[in-house]
Amino acid sequence: MNFADIILPLAQPCYTFAVSHIPDIKVGEAVAVQFGPRNIYTGIVLRLHNNPPKRGRVKPVLQRLYNFAVLTPKQIEFWSWMSSYYLSTLGEVMRIALPSLIKPHATSQELYIPYSLPTEKVVRLKSMPDAETLDRMSRRAPRRAALLAMLQRSGGEIARHECSADAAVITALTKAGYIETILRECEPKILPISHTTLPVLSAEQSKALERIESGLEVCNVALLHGVTSSGKTEIYTHRIAHALSREQDVLLLVPEISLTAQLVERMRQMFGDRVIAYHSKLTPLRRTQIYMDMLRTGSGRLIVGARSALFLPYKSLGLVVVDEEHDSSYKQSEPSPRYHGRDAAVMLASLHGAKAILGSATPSLESFNNAMAGKYAGVTLMSRYGGSLPPKIIISDTMRSVKRGERKSHFNKELLDRIADRLQRREQIMLFQNRRGYAPYVECPRCGWTARCPHCNVTLSRHLNTNSLRCHYCGYSIEHLQYCPECKTSQLETKGFGTEKVEEEISALFPTARILRLDSDTASSDSAYNRIISQFAAGEADILVGTQIITKGLDFKGVTLIGVLNADNLTNAPDFRAVERAWQTMLQVAGRAGRRDKAGEVVVQTSDPSHPVFAALSEQGYQHFATAQLRERQMFNYPPFSRLIRITLRHISPERLAKAASQLGVELRSKFGGRVLGPVTPLVDRIRQEYIVQIIIKIENGASFSRAKEIVAQHLTALQKSPTTKGLTTICDIDPA
Ligand code: ADP
Ligand code: ZN
Ligand code: ZN
Repeated sequence: MNFADIILPLAQPCYTFAVSHIPDIKVGEAVAVQFGPRNIYTGIVLRLHNNPPKRGRVKPVLQRLYNFAVLTPKQIEFWSWMSSYYLSTLGEVMRIALPSLIKPHATSQELYIPYSLPTEKVVRLKSMPDAETLDRMSRRAPRRAALLAMLQRSGGEIARHECSADAAVITALTKAGYIETILRECEPKILPISHTTLPVLSAEQSKALERIESGLEVCNVALLHGVTSSGKTEIYTHRIAHALSREQDVLLLVPEISLTAQLVERMRQMFGDRVIAYHSKLTPLRRTQIYMDMLRTGSGRLIVGARSALFLPYKSLGLVVVDEEHDSSYKQSEPSPRYHGRDAAVMLASLHGAKAILGSATPSLESFNNAMAGKYAGVTLMSRYGGSLPPKIIISDTMRSVKRGERKSHFNKELLDRIADRLQRREQIMLFQNRRGYAPYVECPRCGWTARCPHCNVTLSRHLNTNSLRCHYCGYSIEHLQYCPECKTSQLETKGFGTEKVEEEISALFPTARILRLDSDTASSDSAYNRIISQFAAGEADILVGTQIITKGLDFKGVTLIGVLNADNLTNAPDFRAVERAWQTMLQVAGRAGRRDKAGEVVVQTSDPSHPVFAALSEQGYQHFATAQLRERQMFNYPPFSRLIRITLRHISPERLAKAASQLGVELRSKFGGRVLGPVTPLVDRIRQEYIVQIIIKIENGASFSRAKEIVAQHLTALQKSPTTKGLTTICDIDPA
């Protein structure tokens, strides 16, 4: 072949280079090329062909970097799907897909290859001395003769570390020309699984497993809806063992890195060294080693990881498990490609002809709908393992509590009484509020002034710990103000409440209670997070106050009471998924209670107790709730009955932004008519000095989504090229979360 299309680490299409001078070059190989007047880039061969490009002079590839391909054909297929589905370039996919040491990059100086395969020293026999010399050597230098004999016996080569001869012997024999020491790439090994004891499943779990197995013969994807603590992990384990025993790879995906450690631990007990954790917090070298090991040897590994694990070079993928499939952290929002980890996992499985299991206690409406439609095999598991009781959910009417004069600070009587009771019984309590800091805003009671971020259109949050006012969008922070800067007379008042205030109020109400707080302020590092978790798990505190973080994957034996302090700000979020999310968050947090012998209680405080989301909090309520939600989605033509394209435009100048947005709106409307919503200003319409508007396009099922994306991409490219839109940022998000 004469030409190669090369993926360069740029948000640009692939470019063609000449390769006829490089013998046997293969698709997937890493190469260096000159691009632009000065820069040397490394890149990856996407395609080999004989069609010279129509325009321009073709530059030759400068050199190949390794003597092997760094991408498999399946990876190229996966990347191509991702780039076309999410409207990103292959270069952008490459930037997030490869571990940094083998990731192509630009360099203006000498080419530098940061990664080489690990090597080992090998002692090799060059020639044996003649019989006479050997005979003399056996008498005068028996250790030299012994080494030569050993080399001869082992086929002429021994790894240096396996060879007991000392350095003097080796030097002497090398000088005499009988042996040499060379460097050779070490072979990675996959260790055999010694013997695995899988958990014995309960009758109900076995039935669920059987239904997954038979379902997967018909569909490629199974949705396992199993309540918290029902033993979903144990069920996965059986399918994982099955795939590993056939020497297939398995990917077990979790939404967040913090959830991998515990799961890896559990899996290691069964599958030993076959279990590999993979996520972006590992060192670049470790990630590169895992990648290269997988590339160079066969399959049979269990990869437990966050979404970046989708990009590993699987040789023979047999199963993909997506745990907590409903979790919106699976969606990458920045940078491009803005892909959904769950959806990409299903795609990856299908490219490999592998099966996928999606598991959750609170399945997404998308997956539920797929199961209803028969696209996925739907399996439910409604009882907890070992018969522990589901938590009792108490909906507590805040307005009524206020009217009766029973509400103290932000706590209704139902919650206060139970907190007192648990403290007395030395049982643990978790309090959930989805806002960090002390209060979301401060206001002057006299003139109405509020503290706002100078760079973003949001109020500053009051933080007690740092005595500051902070912007949660850009990080801007000032010292807290004693007096109103406008009227200079009165003291500012805080409005609303976050976890810091909950902590303060609860310790005022229960001065002897030991309280911990878990949010992104207190858990700023992994070690801080782990310290708080292990303190609470060890019973060193009675109450854990926290944000969303406490709803995920944590299992505390002593917790028998959970308080959701303000359910209204979950249900009232301005998003068509708000109610679904509220339901998921509340059930996930409820799942933390009473996981062993004690039935837990969950008190949900709300001003709108008749909202249908609360009726759906009982586990039997899901079917009904989900069906009703889906009906509503269908009425307004929201996903899963349509697919969304969300275009975000940003510019420092509001006038220019408005002009560009309305122009784009008109153009898109001429193509898509009423499917175009906007331009609209989002709730926060200015972040880091830039003004923001959005346009949403709803493409109903049945219409060609790929054609629609093509049209959108063309318009965005044209818009970016127009001289009137200098400084405009355009972002296109497919299936926005
Ligand atoms: P889920 O993932 O559905 O929330 P887990 O798989 O974490 O549930 O199971 C909850 C608890 O019950 C865990 O401590 C687990 O070890 C235990 N468990 C579940 N099924 C079994 C089983 N078949 N044998 C032994 N322990 C089990
Ligand atoms: Zn004032
Ligand atoms: Zn800001």
